[in-house]
Amino acid sequence: MKHVYTAYRARSMCPVCGNEEEIFITNNGIFPSSTSTCHNCSHSYSANEFICNFMELKGNSTVSSYSTI
Ligand SMILES: [Zn+2]
Repeated sequence: MKHVYTAYRARSMCPVCGNEEEIFITNNGIFPSSTSTCHNCSHSYSANEFICNFMELKGNSTVSSYSTI
């Protein structure tokens, strides 16, 4: 049985200062969390509401690559 793991890399943008944070959207939800905290101004916001860019991951990415973050 083949386990299909769908993941997208995306960038969310802080609504306060415009600083971009990289997030992952998987079939389990947003990684590391749906609430992103801006590293620049410490504002917390919903990452899925402020996505500014999508980048599809290549097929050979595995879950193990996430542990390096
Ligand atoms: Zn910010």
